[in-house]
Amino acid sequence: MTDLNQTLFERAAKVIPGGVNSPVRAFRAVGGTPRFVQRAQGAYFWDANGKRYIDYIGSWGPMILGHGHPAVLEAVQKAAVDGFSFGAPTEREVELAEAILAQVPSMDMVRLVSSGTEAGMSALRLARGATGRSKIIKFEGCYHGHADALLVKAGSGLATFGNPTSAGVPPEVVQHTLVLEYNNIPQLEEAFALHGKELALLMIEPIAGNMNFVRASVPFMKRCRELCTQYGALLVFDEVMTGFRVALGSAQSVYAKEIPGFKPDMTVLGKVIGGGMPLAAFGGPREIMQQLAPTGPVYQAGTLSGNPVATACGLATLKELSKPGFWDALSKTTQSLVDGLSAAAKKADIPFSADCQGGMFGFFLLPELPQNYAKVMTSDSPRFNKLFHGLLDRGVYIAPALYEAGFVSAAHSEADIAETVQAASEVFATLGKT
Ligand SMILES: *Cc1c(COP(=O)(O)O)cnc(C)c1O
Repeated sequence: MTDLNQTLFERAAKVIPGGVNSPVRAFRAVGGTPRFVQRAQGAYFWDANGKRYIDYIGSWGPMILGHGHPAVLEAVQKAAVDGFSFGAPTEREVELAEAILAQVPSMDMVRLVSSGTEAGMSALRLARGATGRSKIIKFEGCYHGHADALLVKAGSGLATFGNPTSAGVPPEVVQHTLVLEYNNIPQLEEAFALHGKELALLMIEPIAGNMNFVRASVPFMKRCRELCTQYGALLVFDEVMTGFRVALGSAQSVYAKEIPGFKPDMTVLGKVIGGGMPLAAFGGPREIMQQLAPTGPVYQAGTLSGNPVATACGLATLKELSKPGFWDALSKTTQSLVDGLSAAAKKADIPFSADCQGGMFGFFLLPELPQNYAKVMTSDSPRFNKLFHGLLDRGVYIAPALYEAGFVSAAHSEADIAETVQAASEVFATLGKT
């Protein structure tokens, strides 16, 4: 039988670099042919051959309700009839801003944009404009989109700033970016002692989903907050992945439960707030947000920002998330997946650790949960690749790289979880002991 995924991939590679419009889709880390998606419904999608998969990517996070949720579909269809884009304001943008602010009270105002990259890049400019400072801290393993200043790896020491991780980024552009180890309090303190008064911001993924699933420890987060306050740097939470995904109030609400009065200064959102459409946002206190054009000197704009169809999709999605019982049910499904996989791995004597929050999870082929990027990278990658392909063959689609998080939607049933755990048990049995 012809593999239609292969045919499409070959055709794609002639007209699109690498055959994909975002690199991780190309399966480079795990090998093999990417699956071209034909359609999706609920917890499943079907590839070009018509094979069904249980989807644990959900478009890398946005599809928290599953695919084709009837209320969301209806809202999008209605909005499309009224027009795709106007370049003039609409009531729906106001409604979406209000809906976001109602759940994330650290923000007084938000601006809507079209991608997480754009939101992170704009938040960075605003924080620099508002503080009049240039230097920034980010952490190894955290991804904040592909703005030049954020494509950085650690330099040779704390006195030196970062090195670009991409060709095309001039070293001068990242000379203000300091890259630190996640969850390392002494290093954080040292960096602030050296550079604190010149720091515009510290940007962090509170639960880092771009190195699989690594939580910032409560003492580490507390110290980030204290040092930012002490030195006048802005604490910027990149919640593009965790926002409305790990809890209705986002990851900051999870930390606020552990650290009384905790809140970040600014928040970056994306993924779930668009429900699968290109939509993202950044926000913070009124006095900071009013530094943005047209009320302030920090420039920021977008032809498709606050797009009427995307905002309809986001609003309909957020509405479902605030229904009673939604988070209990979602968390229970995610937990049963994590518990099932852990038990299956234990039975097969495979080193395994896993964690989850709300509808987001991560697992490692390591005996203990790693606390930073270097530890994540000690994970057994040939084994992960075998696991990935074993699951894929059995109709279970997880992220095609060991440093990516996983996502469960409200459409995943206990039967889907049981099928997944059964598939994993079969694959674990073939992985061999260490
Ligand atoms: C996905 C992601 C981004 C980038 O968002 P895009 O919409 O892909 O540009 C930024 N930060 C985090 C934490 C993300 O997970």
